[in-house]
Amino acid sequence: MDKKYTKEFEPGFTPLTVCEEASRCLLCLDAPCSKACPAGTNPDKFIRSVRFRNFKGAAETVRENNALGAICARVCPTEKYCQKGCSRSGIDRPIDIGRIQRYVTDFESSAKMDILKAGKANGKSVALVGSGPAALQAAVSFRTIGYAVDVYEKEKVLGGMLRLIPEYRLPDAIVDEEIKRIEKLGVKFHTGCLVGKDVSVADLKAKHDAVVLAPGYSYGKMLPMFEGNKYVVSAVDFLREVKAKKGDVKVPSNVLVVGGGDVAMDVVSTLKLLGVPHVTDVVYEQFSEFKASKKELEGAQKLGVTIMDGFVPAHVEGNVVSFAHRVIKSEVKVEAELIVLAVGQYPDVSGLGVELVKGEVNTGKPYYTNDPKVFVCGDIAHSKYDKTVVGGVRTGKEVALYVNAALGGK
Ligand SMILES: Cc1cc2nc3c(=O)[nH]c(=O)nc-3n(C[C@H](O)[C@H](O)[C@H](O)COP(=O)(O)OP(=O)(O)OC[C@H]3O[C@@H](n4cnc5c(N)ncnc54)[C@H](O)[C@@H]3O)c2cc1C
Ligand code: SF4
Repeated sequence: MDKKYTKEFEPGFTPLTVCEEASRCLLCLDAPCSKACPAGTNPDKFIRSVRFRNFKGAAETVRENNALGAICARVCPTEKYCQKGCSRSGIDRPIDIGRIQRYVTDFESSAKMDILKAGKANGKSVALVGSGPAALQAAVSFRTIGYAVDVYEKEKVLGGMLRLIPEYRLPDAIVDEEIKRIEKLGVKFHTGCLVGKDVSVADLKAKHDAVVLAPGYSYGKMLPMFEGNKYVVSAVDFLREVKAKKGDVKVPSNVLVVGGGDVAMDVVSTLKLLGVPHVTDVVYEQFSEFKASKKELEGAQKLGVTIMDGFVPAHVEGNVVSFAHRVIKSEVKVEAELIVLAVGQYPDVSGLGVELVKGEVNTGKPYYTNDPKVFVCGDIAHSKYDKTVVGGVRTGKEVALYVNAALGGK
């Protein structure tokens, strides 16, 4: 097996380089980086600690504010948040906040620090449905207040979409460690349990004071013309299998990927790192309209992925797909041994007793459903936060406060 898939792409800082990077920080008052972090991780505070070689203090700042600090350090789109408004950009380039956070959380792990503490038991309990970033953060926030917490997850492994983010960007070991820390806080996990089928929301309501739904967008979309085609797999299923097998999968020599978002970029880059010689990505958008981040797109191009922009699938026969260009009169045919569809994900809330409007639960009251005992958070909750890991963390923190207030807590 080619080791490229399992090796973290970005090198981490050393004790020397992390201090050099932290010393570039301008120690701004009213720091724009901290204002822009959806999780409230307080970059200006932990960078200041790093500057004074206080790695322990830095780790406490990150962890107390973000239960998934080591994960966010690796996958957060920092160019959209903390690094976007960084005052240092006006001089040369923004501080590499993500990598400083990664150093700090790696330090926390190697020093075996135990920062999170459960609050005094308040005699109440909550059930969380799903174990993605939103539910994991909510579990910690509830434990901190003093709630007993049970998490119900349909898959055999915990972590939701974190288990799809390729190993070279987010090693499974990091996710395992974050979850172990949460388990140590006393959170009980029940895997292989599909709520709505194996256990009902009514059962959970009878057992707990509140139920919080966080089922995310767990399923890969199919385009009707590809339905039932034996050459076709969804990006979600493909990425999940590769990650679960640590990249030890058989790959063909020629793969067609349809889609142009960040998930599609994960698929094409994974394929190249697994050693697939011919990867063709056909994208609906033209380059000027691309949905994928510039960094992901450039990464895929550097790996040698062929990207054809502005095409829509017009016809499919077995493993041969014809595409028509949206603007110019042009048609191409691509033949591949495997076709991966990266055309989006969708939520399935069957049996959960909620209705979706444009893929979200939106009752006009944040995190509330029409049932006073049932709440939502994460990707399916209507909120002002992006559908990202850090967005999930923020909604997880907030839903705990809303539920606690609804149950008469402070
Ligand atoms: C391939 C990929 C790459 C991504 N990369 C990034 C990135 O680099 N940075 C970033 O910030 N974001 C990224 N995202 C987005 C991010 O992962 C999601 O926004 C985030 O995981 C959403 O969190 P969530 O808790 O709402 O739901 P999810 O992570 O989707 O988790 C939901 C969980 O609920 C479970 N579930 C669903 N229904 C039930 C049920 N009825 N009973 C029990 N369990 C159930 C599911 O199995 C799943 O484990 C990526 C997403 C994908 C798919
Ligand atoms: S905005 Fe940039 S320079 Fe200012 S405190 Fe934050 S990281 Fe340092």
